[in-house]
Amino acid sequence: MSEIDVAIVGAGVAGLAAAAWLARRGARVALLEALPRAGGRAFTDHPAALGGAPFDHGASWLHNAERNPLARLGRWRGETLIDTARTRRRISIVDGRRASEAELAARDAAAEVLETALIARADAPGPDPSFAAALDALPPNPWHANIEAIEATLIAAADPARLSLADWRANRLEGTNLLPPDGFGAYVLRLLAPPPRTLSLTTPVSRLDWGGHEVVLATPRGAIRAKAAIVTVSTGVLAAGGISFAPALPDMTAAAIAALPMGLLSKVALRAAGEDRLDLPPGCFVERRLDARGEPFMAFNAWPRGRDHVIGFFGGETAWALARAGTQAAEDFARAELTRLFGARAARAFAPGVVVTDWGSHPRFLGAYAYPLPGAASARRALATPLAEGRLTFAGEACHPTLAGTVAGALITARMAARTAWSAVKGKGK
Ligand SMILES: Cc1cc2nc3c(=O)[nH]c(=O)nc-3n(C[C@H](O)[C@H](O)[C@H](O)COP(=O)(O)OP(=O)(O)OC[C@H]3O[C@@H](n4cnc5c(N)ncnc54)[C@H](O)[C@@H]3O)c2cc1C
Repeated sequence: MSEIDVAIVGAGVAGLAAAAWLARRGARVALLEALPRAGGRAFTDHPAALGGAPFDHGASWLHNAERNPLARLGRWRGETLIDTARTRRRISIVDGRRASEAELAARDAAAEVLETALIARADAPGPDPSFAAALDALPPNPWHANIEAIEATLIAAADPARLSLADWRANRLEGTNLLPPDGFGAYVLRLLAPPPRTLSLTTPVSRLDWGGHEVVLATPRGAIRAKAAIVTVSTGVLAAGGISFAPALPDMTAAAIAALPMGLLSKVALRAAGEDRLDLPPGCFVERRLDARGEPFMAFNAWPRGRDHVIGFFGGETAWALARAGTQAAEDFARAELTRLFGARAARAFAPGVVVTDWGSHPRFLGAYAYPLPGAASARRALATPLAEGRLTFAGEACHPTLAGTVAGALITARMAARTAWSAVKGKGK
């Protein structure tokens, strides 16, 4: 008989949340993490290139704070959370100058019209088109390229021609965005600290046998037997065969993994060389008006938390191409974009050295978060459907139908998976 009730693969937000939920109910839990650190895609670092300031490689905001359990938990624990509405000013640069009030009003109007039209299209009967195909059908507007770049390539991390419109509609970010002052990864590890004696770091699971009455997980520390397992690794890791399953996963689960490829959102951070802050207020977002849809795009978050660095965000195909080309290519792109925004002043404003995130090439993630192909929005629920009477369940950001790609989605699906696994364990008699 196994000593462990539930084995959890991956100690990101989902794994940590499942472990906490189960431990509170008295379950014996093994939380198995491949990396030498917990937190997964919630990861705060203090790089020397940024003078030791906190830098979140992955998640940074508590989105949809009104329905985000991690925001509620933080407030309950007395955590300080910065409401970014006060600083989230957007600055648009057109032909090297700040957009006029009239241009900004035109941008806001275009965004509103576009959003209304795309929602109507998504809600209409008929096949689910891609985001790009739905936008093709609308009268052109000079701001469409930017809005598409932000909605699809940054927020959904996906190529607009491959992103399900139905999924974009279901997962739009709404409500308040909160920022933990010392970094999101640090916040997650405080709030979801692993229960005592549950976490094994540097313990990758290479194989999961789920055909018998127990599940058996192969790790370099030996086989771990448990009554049930929850798998929280990214769909990128699953699709690449990072864990082999015996028996093979059923067609429904395998098809869901194939229909949920990983998108990529990357960041490049540069530190100010001196006092010049480019006349940008702390926390603002800066974008260049694109000339055409599909043009490589980078939006900058300037001086976040009042620190002396800017963070460039780039996603979709641009991010994949730069991930393949290497760190120097991402740095070159960021510096070139800053020069297009601020002219020669930008070259003097930033110090040498950058931080570039590596989610696309990291073998434990292979992307930033999952997006469904057109027609495949139901894949999220399919992936979350328990197998073997609850002995094997998948959880994590990819599984949530309306909070996908967020820590809130990861946490909520993990609690559901934990409940399923616990029922399966109790059904067997403890
Ligand atoms: C650049 C970027 C920006 C983002 N911004 C935000 C944001 O502002 N707000 C927000 O809410 N969300 C954001 N997200 C998304 C958010 O980070 C994720 O949705 C969430 O952290 C995913 O948690 P998870 O537990 O599902 O997966 P993960 O964090 O990926 O956890 C899975 C864990 O499994 C481990 N693992 C992999 N393979 C194995 C194996 N074989 N054996 C054992 N362990 C394994 C991994 O190392 C990892 O720790 C962002 C993500 C990125 C990349």
